[in-house]
This record gives sequence, C-alpha cells and structure tokens, in this order.
Amino acid sequence: MEGVLVTGAASAALTGECVRCLEPITDEIEVELQELFVYDDQDHDSEEDDEVSMLEDDLLDLEPLLRDAVVLALPFQPVCEDDCPGLCPECGARLRDDPDHAHAEPIDPRWAGLAALAQDQQDQDRSTNRPE
Ligand SMILES: [Zn+2]
Ligand SMILES: [Zn+2]
Repeated sequence: MEGVLVTGAASAALTGECVRCLEPITDEIEVELQELFVYDDQDHDSEEDDEVSMLEDDLLDLEPLLRDAVVLALPFQPVCEDDCPGLCPECGARLRDDPDHAHAEPIDPRWAGLAALAQDQQDQDRSTNRPE
C-alpha cells in the first residue's frame, strides 16, 4: 500500500585502465537492485527526507538507484590482472609484456667521468695501434 517495491538486476559494461600499468580494461559488472518507491501523497507534509524514492505520477526514476548501485560495485583500484606487475620504474616498459627485461647497472655518477676517460683512452689506443 505504501508504494512500489522494485527488485531487479542490471549489468553494465566497464571501461577504464589498470592502475598499475595503464592498460585499457573492459569488464562487465552485474548489480542487484531493490528499492521502495513510495506514492507521492499530496496530503503528506513535504518534509520528506531525500533518501526516500518517490513515484512521480505513475513513473519511477531508476537512474539514481542504478547509479548508486554501480558506483558502489566498481573496483576501487582496477587492475588488468590480479598480479599485474606494473611498469618498469627505470624505463616505463610494461613488465607483463617483458618480464625478464633488465637494465645495466647504472654507473655511479661519481665515477661517470672516469668511465668517459677510460673510453677515450681505449679509442686512442685503437687508433695508435692500428696497423699501417
Ligand atoms: Zn596492469
Ligand atoms: Zn625497464
């Protein structure tokens, strides 16, 4: 007598990106809905609390109900796979595609000058030792 009880299920397509590797993700979720839409009683004083869903004439607006249900069901931190390894902090490569990739040990900046010097020396040796 109070109103109309709406019960149902809805499915929605999701698109987004993995929080670890930024790969696009598509997924689907299904949510259950249940809400009582009360009759808009003219005599009722209008201090209605906003939480109550009202019938408008003979229509009910499912959108707020659906939106709330879907937003609550969305993953907070979507990932492409549960164990997504993310991106290489060194070069940004996607580690899932290239799990074994490695970087040469970075040269300690304090020794970088010596490395350049050694390279120069090698180049010189090579040019002086070149057979005539
Ligand atoms: Zn990922
Ligand atoms: Zn890398």
